[in-house]
Amino acid sequence: MTNTREYRIVESSAGPAVEQKPHVPPTSMENNIVQHYLDQYADRLETRAIQIERGAIESCYETLERHLDEGPWLVAFDDRTWEAAGSALTDMFERVGQPWVGIRIETQPEYDHPVCTDELVEACQQRMGEEGCTAGVAVGSGTINDTVKMAAHRRGRPMGVVGTAPSMNGYTSGIASILSDGVKTTHPCTAPRVVIADLDRMAEAPERMMASGLADLMSKPVSNSDWAMSARLNDTPHSDEAQAIIERAADSLEGVASGLPDRDRSAIRGLVEALMLSGIAMSVAGTSSPASGGEHLISHYIDMTAHAFDQPDDLHGCQVGVGTLCASYLYRRLHDFDPSDLDIEARVEALPTWEDYESTLRERFDTLFGAVVEHAEPAYPTPDQLHSRLQRLVDQWGVVIDETEETLRTPASLETELRAANAPVRFSDIGVDAERARRAILHAKDIRNRYTILHLCWELGTLETWGEEALDRYA
Ligand SMILES: [Zn+2]
Repeated sequence: MTNTREYRIVESSAGPAVEQKPHVPPTSMENNIVQHYLDQYADRLETRAIQIERGAIESCYETLERHLDEGPWLVAFDDRTWEAAGSALTDMFERVGQPWVGIRIETQPEYDHPVCTDELVEACQQRMGEEGCTAGVAVGSGTINDTVKMAAHRRGRPMGVVGTAPSMNGYTSGIASILSDGVKTTHPCTAPRVVIADLDRMAEAPERMMASGLADLMSKPVSNSDWAMSARLNDTPHSDEAQAIIERAADSLEGVASGLPDRDRSAIRGLVEALMLSGIAMSVAGTSSPASGGEHLISHYIDMTAHAFDQPDDLHGCQVGVGTLCASYLYRRLHDFDPSDLDIEARVEALPTWEDYESTLRERFDTLFGAVVEHAEPAYPTPDQLHSRLQRLVDQWGVVIDETEETLRTPASLETELRAANAPVRFSDIGVDAERARRAILHAKDIRNRYTILHLCWELGTLETWGEEALDRYA
């Protein structure tokens, strides 16, 4: 499906390492809150250093050298990130005598931007082996970071990332999102050992990438509600420590949205900090749940259908932002719901057998069925499970509402903040027409085995009507 040959290797500059490296002054770790958590959870985090500062590119070698292994490093970039940071970084490697091998990631002909595919990871992995690279250095954001993360992980080598855009929260996460046989899947891997965020370089990122980073984090109010709700109804693990980090990340976002269109450095710093903390929280929790709920499923649905059926998509965070508005609307409706209106016996009676539901999924997902069913089946409740979950919901209604309300925000306040950053707020802004948006809201729950507001609404029998209302607002 994806073309394996659509990358090429550029200049290989694997010269011998010089004996004496010029002295690079130690970096002032301006970013104390991020460092604080790195130190506090040093035993649980693979990331050792995060350098967030203006002009970091000029002084990051010392940080990279301290944490990556000696020997040639594989430096991965694309045309844009070469301009943004790759060229300056490798100039510096030349100056200090750091051997490096470059791999330019090209846009595969079937996509309009580089995509992290199995083939790309393999190419990177192979290149690391052939050149005897002791570490990887990704110059970029989502795609390039994920590609090098996974390639280095498979080779058992450490990697660092020099970020070029504050566009997503994967810089510090131990997860890579890879398009595998046309299906976007997340895989656990080793998190970057070093993350470099030069605020001046990041400030040059396209506005939509910054908006995407903010919107990815704006999912917190609903993803945290999903996380707490699932813990309450299903006894899934919840971590107060990760929750505290996520809360701290939200503080960093205070006043950030409106500063992004002006490329205000302190706004970008706040956003970068929050993105790093969000990734750290996922690593501390050992799951992406603190930062990924039903709103992310809506985004993943758009990704899957984009790749499989050649439909438009947008940046991850931009999709998540629109998904967040829908999910927060569903929560509003849930909070207005009167649990005494719920007829549990009738709901259990109405539950399709798995066999019937499986054929529904086959129709809905067509060629994606095989990839979806493995997540959908373990998530599908038996009549007994449904009965006890709904009973627990009714019994603990007040607690569930209080706990989900704690982190939740109104759709209107979320929308105001997204708009301030010029982030998309409607499905039509991200190229998704009303019919596909309807399917995203109604069908996305089956693509992951993670209980969210989408699942709860479906089990209550309200997903269609409330989803339709959300669609009226956000199509
Ligand atoms: Zn995300």
